[in-house]
Amino acid sequence: MKKEKKMPEWDLSEYYNGVDDPKIDEDIKKYAEKAAEFAVRYRGKVAKLEAGEFAAALRELEELSRISGKLGGYASLNSSTNLTDPKASALYQKIVESLNDAGKDILFFGLEYNKLSAAAEKKLLADETVRGYLPYLKRVRKYKPYELSEEVEKTLLEKDVTSGSAWVRLYEETMARLSYTVDGKKYNDAQVSRLCLSPDAALREKAGKEINNVSKENSFTVGYIYNMIMKDKAVEDEKRGFKLPMSARNLAEEVSDETVDCLAQTVRDNYENIAWRFYKIKAKLLGVEKIKYWDRNAPLPLESDKEYSWEEAVQTVLEAYKAFSPKLFDIAREFFDKPWIDVAPKEGKRSGAFCSGPLTEEHPFLLLNFTGKRNDVLTLAHELGHGCHHQLRRHNGVLNETTRMTTEEVASVFGEMLVFQAMLNQAKDDKEKIALLAMKVNDMINTAVRQIAFHFFETRAHDERKGGEVPVGRLNEIWLEEMKTSLGPWVEVDENSAYIWEQVGHFFFLPFYVYAYSFADCVVNSLYWLKLQGKVDNFEDKYLALLQKTAIGDYQDIFAPFGLNPASKEFWQGGLNLISYYLDQLEELVNKL
Ligand SMILES: [Zn+2]
Repeated sequence: MKKEKKMPEWDLSEYYNGVDDPKIDEDIKKYAEKAAEFAVRYRGKVAKLEAGEFAAALRELEELSRISGKLGGYASLNSSTNLTDPKASALYQKIVESLNDAGKDILFFGLEYNKLSAAAEKKLLADETVRGYLPYLKRVRKYKPYELSEEVEKTLLEKDVTSGSAWVRLYEETMARLSYTVDGKKYNDAQVSRLCLSPDAALREKAGKEINNVSKENSFTVGYIYNMIMKDKAVEDEKRGFKLPMSARNLAEEVSDETVDCLAQTVRDNYENIAWRFYKIKAKLLGVEKIKYWDRNAPLPLESDKEYSWEEAVQTVLEAYKAFSPKLFDIAREFFDKPWIDVAPKEGKRSGAFCSGPLTEEHPFLLLNFTGKRNDVLTLAHELGHGCHHQLRRHNGVLNETTRMTTEEVASVFGEMLVFQAMLNQAKDDKEKIALLAMKVNDMINTAVRQIAFHFFETRAHDERKGGEVPVGRLNEIWLEEMKTSLGPWVEVDENSAYIWEQVGHFFFLPFYVYAYSFADCVVNSLYWLKLQGKVDNFEDKYLALLQKTAIGDYQDIFAPFGLNPASKEFWQGGLNLISYYLDQLEELVNKL
């Protein structure tokens, strides 16, 4: 890494002056008192409230959310740079527990609201202040058709500790205890996966086979756990009246089953045109006829390791943002003018990167672990996208705002695209271009295409579970079929990867979530594809308007200004066309080599 002056560190004192700040305890107390008062004032009375009183209750809820956001947000940000400080983690634990405790006092509000008749709800919504909370109220209301009697809800909640959650915990603890041996050395799962990114092909093969072997040894337990998780979910889904195994997740993500099907089918129709074609090129670049299953993400021999100083990284990112939108640039610039960003890796700091805002109405903070690699620059572009997205939503209100995975990544991935395109334009020769394009297409396939192959695996597994337990051998078969179909003839898919489904944690702890990654990526790609084609007037303004509404608007409405409809195949195809577009460039350059 290039020599650096001291890099920016964030300053959290606008919230609290350190873990000993007496204001923390004052706020914990304030939250508990206000929550208790709220319960006394409104429990059992929601149905009788006049619109004005109802609006007042919502404002109180908002205030409660502000206090908890400030406490929880501060504790989490503070501990992320002080992981080894017991005082920081103790504070975090204390705040989480006290917020949970007091938070139980206010749960009744949503439940009572959902008991209101449609006529009573309409009367409340006639009030302008109440209508200002419509996105929040709609989010509460959407669960109404699936809610069970209070008695059953309580029983389900109590039984969850020994059913659904118990299996997830057993899965996580089983996986965490696994040990993988390569060349006599022991590794945990994160470490052994990293070996598959090594430039040494023999090492990758040993690691790849070991992951499958260890999974095979554990398949009795993990297969049983998976069957129980599927059955547990099916029982509850049936009671609640969800049509398909994925329906409960789709309700949470606020998309229809049909839209998810449309996405999945469109991606599947593009397996050959995108994934197969890419792996054929990758095999050629790696100098082999077929690539091994574990070599999908292997580095290319020509990868350049261009290094950036922090100043260069900031300049690269801001210039790309500015070229797209001077307005976005103005929002982005503030993060660097103020101490809202923690840049350098250091002892006791969390790895990776994130953007987090304790309060909707205030600016967020960015955490990075910048080491000057090209990927670090793209990560900065990504997190800065989240940061700008947050800034554009500040006026929406604490209750109305939420994080919806399917649109949460729009600004971040879009920001990354802007910077990636700039890097590509500035690449000094064909080799650098190939390295950049191959990296990007590889990532895009992992997100947009591979997650859909996962989605088909879990859809089939849950469907077959309806007919009784699905044996491990059968799960392996479904897995291998989906992998072969999606990866194509230039990737070796055989017994050596039959058990890898056990490694996909989302199948266990967040069923039917994997498509959300593809959804999010295709949404951004679809938008970026339109931008590249230059066919939308005022793209910049429409894009910024979209970012303001990602959590409070319906999908149909927020994409309409672009002439896009997420329920149509064309919408998703647009996103996949962007991958093809980069793939065409890659193919042409590789053929010239
Ligand atoms: Zn992100």
